[in-house]
Amino acid sequence: MTTATYPPNLSQSELRSHQAPFVNEPFLDFTDAPTKRAMQEALAAVKSSLGREYDLVIGGKRIKTDAKIVSIDPARPAEVVGIHQRADERHVELAMAAAQTAFASWSRTPAADRAALLSRAAGIVRQRKFELCAWLTYEVGKNWAEADADVGETIDFLEFYAREALRLDAAATPIQLPGERNQLRYIPLGVGAVIPPWNFPLAIMAGMTSAAIVCGNTVILKPSGDAPTIAAVFFSILEEAGLPDGVVNFCPGAGARFGSAIVAHPETRFIAFTGSKAVGLKIHESAAKTQPGQKFIKRTVLEMGGKNSIIVEPDCDLNAAVEGVVASAFGFNGQKCSACSRAIVATEIYDKFCERLVARVTHIEVGDPAKNFYTGPVINRAAYKEILNYIEIGRKEGRVIAFGKAPKNNPDYGYYIAPTVIADVAPTARIAQEEIFGPVLAVIKSTSFDDALAIANNTEYGLTGALYSTSRAKLDRARLEFHVGNLYFNRKCTGAMVGAHPFGGFNMSGTDSKAGGPDYLLLFTQAKSIAEKLGDYR
Ligand code: NAD
Repeated sequence: MTTATYPPNLSQSELRSHQAPFVNEPFLDFTDAPTKRAMQEALAAVKSSLGREYDLVIGGKRIKTDAKIVSIDPARPAEVVGIHQRADERHVELAMAAAQTAFASWSRTPAADRAALLSRAAGIVRQRKFELCAWLTYEVGKNWAEADADVGETIDFLEFYAREALRLDAAATPIQLPGERNQLRYIPLGVGAVIPPWNFPLAIMAGMTSAAIVCGNTVILKPSGDAPTIAAVFFSILEEAGLPDGVVNFCPGAGARFGSAIVAHPETRFIAFTGSKAVGLKIHESAAKTQPGQKFIKRTVLEMGGKNSIIVEPDCDLNAAVEGVVASAFGFNGQKCSACSRAIVATEIYDKFCERLVARVTHIEVGDPAKNFYTGPVINRAAYKEILNYIEIGRKEGRVIAFGKAPKNNPDYGYYIAPTVIADVAPTARIAQEEIFGPVLAVIKSTSFDDALAIANNTEYGLTGALYSTSRAKLDRARLEFHVGNLYFNRKCTGAMVGAHPFGGFNMSGTDSKAGGPDYLLLFTQAKSIAEKLGDYR
């Protein structure tokens, strides 16, 4: 364990790595025999570590609580992945005090040293890639490629934000007035609450945490109750990389008790949240209420849900559109904020599209993600019930054209739900408007491109969307009129890449924070303008 002061000297290789341009981490190829073997070995090794107990870590101190959070494998709910302490209101002051103490030195630590911490962590994540993939498979049911994408994005966030922090640190005012030295310093805000979801429990958790700390803030990290183990493993990687005590305080706890208490605390300067609309709005409301003794306006970075559409026009490559819709709707079981849950298909090609879609969907294999089935279980029993309930609603609102086979229709054997397609859905139907967050796709008929755009924009969300068309005029119109934070043409609407596709939505999808983009770190800083009259200073 390190002390609160950070070692200031960078090694030559760290200096070199900061100077190298950012490149996205390449994906693993599991059809390659040695890669496949490495993943199988990692799964076997991690299996023998399941069921361990993890502590809260506040100011570097390990703490146990009487109440526990038990994280389970959604593919076999009897299997415990990790046992975690449950922070409650009593730990809020402890965590705040530790984060405030650490802020005094961390906020003054040079940006290059803070960036070096992220680069070192990225290096460790890279070395332990297969192991981290295996944890994701067991804790949230990701197949190997989905797990690899989550780990790769984690590396990308760490590497990207390390470089961005150096860029911000070197920022200058656009004008230097004669006779003055003009400076613009992006300084940290203070202590923040980081509250991630379970569905990208490594990348989003690590991305929000690393963005906050690389700017000099300190953090109370409350991971999702469905995925605290992967967060604990990442926290141990930060420690191994040299994280000073108190810079990140690792506090699993119930959202409604511990999460809401850290949001409401008068000294919490900012909240970085990714999760559902309902919880995001609660956080927004609570953060807006000034507490006695509070000296600042809290900042919220809120990334919330989606109800994403893919428009399929008659002039498109139909097979490519079917592939794109299937990958976007059923990759990781539709449990991505960016997932397509509405295909808006032109009347002329509607029947042909549905026919090809059904043929494709019924071939999707559902099963144990550890054995690398394309579709694994949904995250937990509550989600399982809610998604099945939406399928029942969908039966009344449309025509079920695909409801494939899940291994066992019994949640005790894993929370499996087969990919489901419901056709002839009205644009205003519940399953066309509400986020289901599961493998359920509504197909909606459009009578014209005008109609398709109007349907695409008719929800309260605005996260991702795609258009399949070969018409330049339609692409140009969609550029202006398809109102989403992440718009894609002739490709799937999932799989945003750090740097290339800064990610975040409009309307009820959030505060458009654009994770992985050039503006993201600004959200975790405040800019101080300093003008010094040139003179003879001693
Ligand atoms: P959720 O809102 O249930 O939980 C998110 C986090 O908030 C968890 O850590 C939870 O414990 C915590 N929480 C719950 N109640 C709280 C409260 N009252 N105060 C403070 N914290 C509280 O979401 P989830 O089920 O973990 O994730 C799925 C949701 O996340 C979906 O809606 C999905 O679209 C969204 N999501 C959005 C993005 C994006 O970038 N826009 C990315 C991933 C997921």
